[in-house]
Amino acid sequence: MSSSPLPLSRPDSSLPDYRLQSPEVAARFRKIDERPVVLEVDRLTREFAGEHGTMTALRNVSFNVHRREFVCVIGPSGCGKSTLIRLVAGLDEQTSGRLLVDGREIHGPGPDRGMVFQSYSLFPWLTVTGNVMFGLQMQGMDRGQAESEALQWIELVGLAQFKNSYPAQLSGGMKQRTAIARALAPNPRVLLMDEPFGALDAQTRAQMQAHLLDIWRNVDVTVLFITHDLDEAIFLADRILVLKAHPGEVQEVIEVPVPRPRHLSQTNSPEFLATRRRLEELIHPRVETLVEKLPIVRLTQVGDDVE
Ligand code: ADP
Repeated sequence: MSSSPLPLSRPDSSLPDYRLQSPEVAARFRKIDERPVVLEVDRLTREFAGEHGTMTALRNVSFNVHRREFVCVIGPSGCGKSTLIRLVAGLDEQTSGRLLVDGREIHGPGPDRGMVFQSYSLFPWLTVTGNVMFGLQMQGMDRGQAESEALQWIELVGLAQFKNSYPAQLSGGMKQRTAIARALAPNPRVLLMDEPFGALDAQTRAQMQAHLLDIWRNVDVTVLFITHDLDEAIFLADRILVLKAHPGEVQEVIEVPVPRPRHLSQTNSPEFLATRRRLEELIHPRVETLVEKLPIVRLTQVGDDVE
């Protein structure tokens, strides 16, 4: 019998390398790469002037999103996720770099980009149908046509029974379904989603993720989705763009090795867990390092030691 001691910790070798792809998954990525680029982000930098000098929220961020690709952006708080999506939405101006949709540089908001926010941004005085019609009528569509198109989108998101309800009468998930229908109705090239399910309870959130994938399968739209939830990113995305903070830069682009169509049972698959472990390595700082850095102040009269 060997007398050598067992190592205290071993790397978890039971999980595959997250970069390994089955032939089906590799073929899917080849197909995506052959499709035209819809969204091009080219050396995007955004600086903010502050009291203590210039603060760089994003530095030289570059990536392409191909037609009907689903890209999630993830990273620690303050890494520039919201700044990035606001720039792509045209709600803010970059300091340098370019943003293009279908090869055309964008300046300001436009109908080629639809947006869904975390906080419900529906008009409370309009019904579900009225909210979905709104953007269509703004584009000059007459009332009758706007209503019939809106009803098709409302059906797609499963809200036909609630078409005459007002936002206050809807659950959080239903409000977000309405917001998705409203964002998709004007046929945008890119759907921008900023933590859209962040305010929902866990069960509704899981339902909405599956529902969003169903919608996306049936619509010719490219998705840029911001989240800080690792499982949500893996479940939804083709590629995950991992940002690091201070300054916000691309740390890694992960091609998710989990096959499609996705279903919840895959969250325990080796590919899913391997991707999750990689994201944790990239995003969560090691607890030991944090503990070393934090001064621990012992309060007086805390009582018996706990260990
Ligand atoms: P995230 O969404 O990843 O949490 P943000 O995009 O909100 O990150 O912010 C990135 C960095 O840019 C943060 O340090 C934030 O304080 C800074 N920042 C964002 N917006 C502004 C602003 N309008 N003025 C000054 N600093 C800002």
